Formats: sequence, structure tokens, C-alpha cells
Amino acid sequence: MSELRLMAVHAHPDDESSKGAATMARYVDEGVRVMVVTLTGGERGDILNPAMDLPEVHGRMAEIRREEMAKAAAILGVEHHWLGFIDSGLPEGDPLPPLPEGCFALEPLEVPTEALVRVIRDFKPHVITTYDENGGYPHPDHIMCHKVSVAAYEAAADHLLYPDAGTPWAAHKLYYNHGFLRQRMQVLQDEFAKNGQEGPFAKWLESWDPEIDLSANRVTTRIECAKYFQQRDEALLAHATQIDPKSFFFTTPMEWQQRLWPTEEFELARSRVPVSLPETDLFTGIEGRN
Ligand SMILES: [Zn+2]
Repeated sequence: MSELRLMAVHAHPDDESSKGAATMARYVDEGVRVMVVTLTGGERGDILNPAMDLPEVHGRMAEIRREEMAKAAAILGVEHHWLGFIDSGLPEGDPLPPLPEGCFALEPLEVPTEALVRVIRDFKPHVITTYDENGGYPHPDHIMCHKVSVAAYEAAADHLLYPDAGTPWAAHKLYYNHGFLRQRMQVLQDEFAKNGQEGPFAKWLESWDPEIDLSANRVTTRIECAKYFQQRDEALLAHATQIDPKSFFFTTPMEWQQRLWPTEEFELARSRVPVSLPETDLFTGIEGRN
């Protein structure tokens, strides 16, 4: 079989470890070349782990997040590329403050699109993953990540567009991540109840946005990857400033997750090869694959 290549496009360092990470680890294990492209440096990420809220961390965020990302990439076994744009931060308040000057979400679309086209034409992925039009989470960089990825998937194949950014390459398929599913959370919460425990998801389930719930209906592709959940958790923990190891993310026993929800979910958004849905492999329909 000829070499297969997968590219996962993400907004910030740590997104790759919380969205589709076990899927990437599985494909690496199967001999697929996997590259994560991170669009911003995550410079405006808050320190979400009290144990890392230290004077020596403040003011060094950009550098620390590069170190954390390198560790996570090594754990997942993926190649990694920074696109080099500046984190927009998550605006908070009412009314929302304006986005900071020079940030990623304010870039004219063609600037990051050309930068991503260049990486696509160089790496030549068969499959690209990104976020849906809601970003999976309403961060301006995630919405922008969606727009840039879709534009670059199309433009990379078009010899009339960005002629200075390399030889055209038509990736075969484009997917959106859909890992944040109400049904998954409910199944795990029910297992806590069955075991006489309170479970960490009650608040989430109560306040679930019905709009987000719709994403379950969009899933076309379930990737079996339970064997790699431990690796996913370790990669996430490598982002030490962003992840509190005591957070609810890590309270569900691994055995429950592997037994009750052994997959990660994706939506096939665009394809240049014939497909038959649902699927259990991102590379179905691509030459060299069954
Ligand atoms: Zn993010």
C-alpha cells in the first residue's frame, strides 16, 4: 500500500489533543503519516491549571505553549507545523470587547488561506480534518479555523489560485470533528449513577444547548480508537498550563470510556471520491485502501 497522509488543522495548541487525538494516534500506529497544523500560537490562553499559575510562567506563555505542543506531538507520534498567527483570545463581557489588533480572527481570509495552501501542497494529505461552521466551540479562532480550512481545501487543488504557493494538490476528503456529543456524556453520567456516584456531567447536561445537540445528527464516520484513549489523555496533560489534571475531563474511569464509547466522531463535509455512509475509516474510498 502506498503511503497515506492525514492532516488535522487546529486553532490552538491543545485543540489537537482534545479533538480527534485518539484517531490520530491510531492512524500513526497503522503507519499513516499524520501532521497537525496549529494556526495560532495560543499566546492568549489563560492559565487553567492552578498548579501552573506561577510567576515564571506569566510572560512566557508563547514559549511555554510551544514546549507543551512539542511534548503532545511526541506523545501522539505526529508531525507538527505552526502557521504562526496570533491567538485572538476569547472575548468576554457584555458588550463583547473588540478583538485585539493583529489577531488571527481579524486577518483577511486570503492571508491564512494562502499559508495553509502552501502546507497542504507540500505535505499532500489525502484527508484533512477541521471544525464545523460553529467552530465546535464559539471561539473566534475556531470559527476562523473552519473558514480557512474549507477555503484552503478548495484552493490547494486549483492551479489558478495562489500559483506561488506550490504545485496544486487535491486532498480527497475533508472532515469536521464532532467529539462533543450529548449522548456520550449522558451514557457516562448514567454509568456513574449505576455505580452510586454523582458523576461530573450533571451541570453540562442540564444546560446543554439544543443547537449543539444537533451535531450528533451530522456524524457520518465513527473511528474505533479506545486503545489510544490513554495516549490522548497523556497528550492533553502535556498542555500543563491549559489543563487541570483534577478537572472533570479525567474523572471518568478509562475502562468505562473504552467499553461504553470506544469511538471518536467525524462528519464528512466534502469528498472528491465516491463514498458510502456511514463509514468507520477516514480513508475509505481512497486508492490503496479498501
Ligand atoms: Zn482552541
